[in-house]
Amino acid sequence: MNDALKIGILSANHRSPAFVDLMKRTQASLREKLEIPANYTILFTSSATECWEIIAQSLTKNGSLHFYNGAFGQKWLDYTIRLKGTSLGLPFDLNSVPDTKAAPPLEAESVVCVTHNETSNGTRLPEVTMRSLRRKFPKQLIAVDATSSMGGTQLDFKTADIWFASIQKCFGLPAGLGIMICSPKVRKVAEQTGDRLRYNNLLFMYEMMDKFQTPYTPNVLGIYLLSRTIEAAEPISIISERLDERHNNWISFTEKLNSIWPLISNEAVRSQTVLPLAGEPELISKLKTAAAKAGLLLGEGYGEWKENTFRIANFPAILPAEIKRLQSFLKKF
Ligand SMILES: *Cc1c(COP(=O)(O)O)cnc(C)c1O
Repeated sequence: MNDALKIGILSANHRSPAFVDLMKRTQASLREKLEIPANYTILFTSSATECWEIIAQSLTKNGSLHFYNGAFGQKWLDYTIRLKGTSLGLPFDLNSVPDTKAAPPLEAESVVCVTHNETSNGTRLPEVTMRSLRRKFPKQLIAVDATSSMGGTQLDFKTADIWFASIQKCFGLPAGLGIMICSPKVRKVAEQTGDRLRYNNLLFMYEMMDKFQTPYTPNVLGIYLLSRTIEAAEPISIISERLDERHNNWISFTEKLNSIWPLISNEAVRSQTVLPLAGEPELISKLKTAAAKAGLLLGEGYGEWKENTFRIANFPAILPAEIKRLQSFLKKF
């Protein structure tokens, strides 16, 4: 943040060469470190929520189908229904994966929406599931909410058309910036759809990004901080491996406790970046109070799991010493 002030990027206007340079650099670093294919376009928004709306408005001319098993997937479906009047939702079980056989035949270029990492309940879609979705829906657009996995989990971008996230989860940065990564097909569908109704329509975003700019004054500080942290970060393959190790360590740690256990029993769909632990509501409540007294703020359970779970983040920015401290508190408790 000091550097951003010193070099004057915060006062440079968002059509200036200084901004264009920053945008080019940020995209190049993201592409390199996250292994984003060369023909995918990187766009910036204000949040993941905004991406839900952009997809509904600028791409959903032939309808959408949402597979979901938690609160964020459901919210995405709700936003789409509000904007488009209709959409199809197919819920699936916590310990399973989307049932593609349950899907009705879909028109080409309709949008299939999935949440890669469901932050509310700590599940994720394994890579085999992403590949089978691609095989099942070759002509449709597959849109993926990867808000709490991008920047932590290694993603195979080729298995979908749209990937989006915001930077306050695995990127470890202050909130207020969203990233949207799109395959070449997305621009074609946006052109056919022809939506130009709102300031953040996808066509306008693409046209401005052809010049490495954005339709509106973006979160320049967020972009700068993203570029610096990504430049300093290790490649995603290494980060992802480390998170896997830490996740496995957490699981073996919980196996030694007898009063709390992982909410998700199916290993294959356990999130690598969010671990909800479950127990009797009375015990979980006492645990949260004791943790607060010890100076540890436990992540609340979400929605229907509020009373009987708490959530541990396994984001890259979390330090080994912090994990140790939490584990020693849990052991004592
Ligand atoms: C946090 C989160 C969102 C919302 O992100 P915003 O930046 O608040 O819009 C959406 N989807 C998932 C899966 C999330 O974890």
